[in-house]
Amino acid sequence: MKCNGMRKEKTKNGRKIDVRCNTEFDKHALFCKVCGHSTDALSGQLSAKVNYQDVWEKFKPIKSKYYSFSIFIILTSFLLIGLGIFFSKDLAESFKIDHYLFTNLMLLILVPFTLIPFGFKENFTNEPFKISKYFQALKSYPKFFLLTLVNILFFLLLKILCTGYILGITVDPILHPVRFILVLYWITITFPAILLIIRKKMNPIKAVVKCYTASAETRWQQFFIVFRLFVMNIIGAAFAGLGLLVTIPFSYILIEKYYQSLDEFELFE
Ligand SMILES: [Zn+2]
Repeated sequence: MKCNGMRKEKTKNGRKIDVRCNTEFDKHALFCKVCGHSTDALSGQLSAKVNYQDVWEKFKPIKSKYYSFSIFIILTSFLLIGLGIFFSKDLAESFKIDHYLFTNLMLLILVPFTLIPFGFKENFTNEPFKISKYFQALKSYPKFFLLTLVNILFFLLLKILCTGYILGITVDPILHPVRFILVLYWITITFPAILLIIRKKMNPIKAVVKCYTASAETRWQQFFIVFRLFVMNIIGAAFAGLGLLVTIPFSYILIEKYYQSLDEFELFE
C-alpha cells in the first residue's frame, strides 16, 4: 500500500510545492517513515472497534457453548473474589490483620486463577473453552501469581504516594483522583503482559516494561478495549450476573485477539 499523505518537494527553480507522498508502506508500519502520515493500521487491524466487532461476530453464534466453562470459572474464582471483597472487613477482623493487607493477600491468591485461560495454548480462541483445558493450564499459576504480585506492589506504591498510607502523612487531596487515573493508565498499558509472560516467556517486570514501550501509538485503542470490557462486564454482572456467562469468555477472547494484533505488528520485538 502507498502513502496518501502530502509532503513538500523543491522544484528546479527552488519553489516548494505539495506533492503526494506515495512512499510504499512497510507491511506493519503505523506511520509513513517519510512524511509521518498514518497508515490505516490504527483505524483497521489495531482499532479497538474493529477487533471488538470481529470477535463478537464470531463469538455470538457459539456463545452458549461457553456457558459451562463460564459457570465453572465464576464459581471457582470470580465469585470467591467478589465474596472476599464484600466481606473483607469482617474477615480481616476475624483474622486480626490489617484490612488492606488482607484484601491484597486474598487477591494475590485468587486473581491468578482468573488468568489461567490465558495459559491455554495459542489460538485457544478458535474453539469453546473446556474445563479440562483449565486444569492443564493450571501449571501457569506461578507465572500469573508473580504478575499479580507486581501489580499489587505497584498499586501499593501508588497508595503510599497518593494517600500517605503507612507514612501517616497528610497529602494533597488532588492526589486521590491522580491515583485513580494512574491505576486506569497502568491497566490500559500493561494488560498485554498477561500474554507476554506466557507466549514470549518474559518475566513479569520485563513484560510490563515491554508493554510500556510497545504501546506508544496504540494506547488509546488499548484504553477503548479496556473501557468496552469494563462496561460490558458491569452490564453482564447486573441481572443476577447472568450476562457474565457471555461477557467473561468474550473478555478472554478479545484480549487474546488484540494481543495477537499487536504482536502481528511486531510491537513486542
Ligand atoms: Zn508518506
